[in-house]
Amino acid sequence: MSQFWSPAIQSLVPYTPGEQPKVDGLIKLNTNENPYPPAPAVEAVLREFDTERLRLYPDPDCHALKQALADEAGLSRDQVFVGNGSDEVLALTFMALLRHEQPLLLPETTYSFYNVYIDLFNIDARHIPLTDDYRIDLDAYSSENGGIIFANPNAPTGVGLTLEQISDLLIRNTHSVVVVDEAYVDFGAESASQLVDRYPNLLVTQTFSKSRSLAGMRVGYAYGHPKLIEALERVKNSFNSYPLDMLAQQTAIAALQDRGYFQHCVQQVMDTREWTCEQLTSLGFEVLPSQTNFVFTSHSEVAAAELMQYLRDNRILVRHFTKPGIDNHLRITIGTPDEMTRLIECLKQHPSL
Ligand SMILES: *Cc1c(COP(=O)(O)O)cnc(C)c1O
Repeated sequence: MSQFWSPAIQSLVPYTPGEQPKVDGLIKLNTNENPYPPAPAVEAVLREFDTERLRLYPDPDCHALKQALADEAGLSRDQVFVGNGSDEVLALTFMALLRHEQPLLLPETTYSFYNVYIDLFNIDARHIPLTDDYRIDLDAYSSENGGIIFANPNAPTGVGLTLEQISDLLIRNTHSVVVVDEAYVDFGAESASQLVDRYPNLLVTQTFSKSRSLAGMRVGYAYGHPKLIEALERVKNSFNSYPLDMLAQQTAIAALQDRGYFQHCVQQVMDTREWTCEQLTSLGFEVLPSQTNFVFTSHSEVAAAELMQYLRDNRILVRHFTKPGIDNHLRITIGTPDEMTRLIECLKQHPSL
């Protein structure tokens, strides 16, 4: 702390991302990155890029990328917003659409960055517990509110809602914005982007970081009614006109266009996930049903914190949250079949497993 800080910054508790180790050779299953490289077309963009063009500012409106994303979802360009990672899209969403008199409703257990934005923007919020089997209980989202936000599939549980459950909520909740964060939707859930034309208060966010293997490029986006998108553009253009550089815009388009590669990688991750779940279960772990590129798991005989340290000592990184209620779980990203085999082999060596 310092006397020079703005008052609101003194009490800020920033988000803590998973560790990015400074040494090589660790098996990194702690931040839900994709174990496969981006589509070959992404490499071609980088190889052929004309460096001379970097003199110029990038397209502030990301016209071509928005069009490609609109085509992907069967929507129009004015229903698309893009940002520097979906974290930025979410930050702008909290500022533009979720700051109201009535409290924001969100799950007690969900992406922990939401609470950082809630504090940063001083938003009144009501946290709603998950069910005993770690599901988001949308029936409980019925009080008056200034907005609703949740991840689907949820993080860090990996558990998904059906499109029907989300439609039911939208039918009931017409007076405030409902934000569905679909960072993991490509790994087996159904996207609510197909509901955007029907519900003017629905905003769906997605990212290139997980299913498109572009976490290092920082590209996120949102689908919603043009009026919602306009609000996001207003805030974005009051903050930074150029959140996406030229390389980010072009590589994202390239990644979108290679459908075959995308489907192959996603399927590979899902197959490896099913294998990993079976293996963990046979070691006595409880594993929540996952529709993501990670599993959320606990063991009745060995504490999660101890397991995390044991794996770390064996050069395998996984994520452990100290939040009460989920502090005996590990979130394990799905890596390559080889990485997951090494994880399972390592766990088998643990004296209590
Ligand atoms: C990873 C993640 C994000 C952020 O993704 P970026 O696009 O890399 O900023 C947003 N929401 C959830 C639930 C995530 O897990």
